[in-house]
Amino acid sequence: MKAAVTINKESIRIDQVPKPEPKEDEVLVKVLAAGICGGDVRVYNGTFPYLNYPIINGHEFCGIVEGKGKTVQTIKEGDYVTGEPIIPCGHCYACSIGKPNCCSDLKVLGVHVNGCFAEYVCVKADRIYKLPDAIPPEDGCLIEPYGIGLHALHRLALTEEDSLFIIGAGPIGISALDIAKSIGAKVMISDLFEKRLEIAEKMGADRLVVSGTCDIDAAVDEFTGGQKFPAVLEATGVPAVMQSTQNYVANGGRICLAGVTNKTFELSTMAFCNKEVAVYGTRNSYHEFPELIDLFAQKRLHPELMRTHIFSLDDYGEAIKMASKNTSDVCKIVIKVADR
Ligand SMILES: [Zn+2]
Ligand SMILES: [Zn+2]
Repeated sequence: MKAAVTINKESIRIDQVPKPEPKEDEVLVKVLAAGICGGDVRVYNGTFPYLNYPIINGHEFCGIVEGKGKTVQTIKEGDYVTGEPIIPCGHCYACSIGKPNCCSDLKVLGVHVNGCFAEYVCVKADRIYKLPDAIPPEDGCLIEPYGIGLHALHRLALTEEDSLFIIGAGPIGISALDIAKSIGAKVMISDLFEKRLEIAEKMGADRLVVSGTCDIDAAVDEFTGGQKFPAVLEATGVPAVMQSTQNYVANGGRICLAGVTNKTFELSTMAFCNKEVAVYGTRNSYHEFPELIDLFAQKRLHPELMRTHIFSLDDYGEAIKMASKNTSDVCKIVIKVADR
């Protein structure tokens, strides 16, 4: 089969490799479309820890089941599906309390095992969800990134009564905005790039803030009538921005940190204790897919706005290079692997 193989840091080869064989609890999926994620960029850049090259990258996919292992019963050949990319250990504390998304020995498709930037991928059958035909493949592969946004909103227990400040209008911030607006919450969103906020505007954001040029504290007070936000979602991963969330959250409010960094930042005791603020981490998604598949099928979300570019598998090298430059006109890049 054809695959985009990451040979080494910043080195991609479109190659013929053996078609994978599903293990007894796996299905073989013929990939139709696959999304490029920030994690894929880190694999390409060589900034992902504990990684062995060569690897076929990619974990956001949809496709058609073409084969299955002998213990797989609920999924059949010909099913149109997507899936969660997590491969949890099944017996650590997180797994035992139903949080395999943050398993202490978590493996991820496209990082620790070969992923979906290929004509075929093998996925554990218990991570597979059927898609209705009404969802086109270029949208179906975006259920997973929307899952990251929805999981973060679940961590915040967001309701329609809430006003939410989303910091960062990349795929996580944009998917969270789209879902928050579908719930009916009021949302202010900020980004360094005005261009990225154009997508947010089309999705119905109530207030756009260009963070480089605008007084954010003033915008927060104006939007919330001086009360500050009950819910703040940080989606940049920049330590100084993460730290600033304490200034934007209301007394008794919640902060969720979705951005990833290996640096640290300071949380003030005044924010933690006097304001009794809850700070949540968020990682991957789990059990969010059915809710999102319904929302996608009902056309209540706008993945077509998040998807800014489509490339073929042959042009994966060009696509990942574009994603790694992180320019303002790029939000989500989709690789179209095959037609239905
Ligand atoms: Zn992803
Ligand atoms: Zn585990």
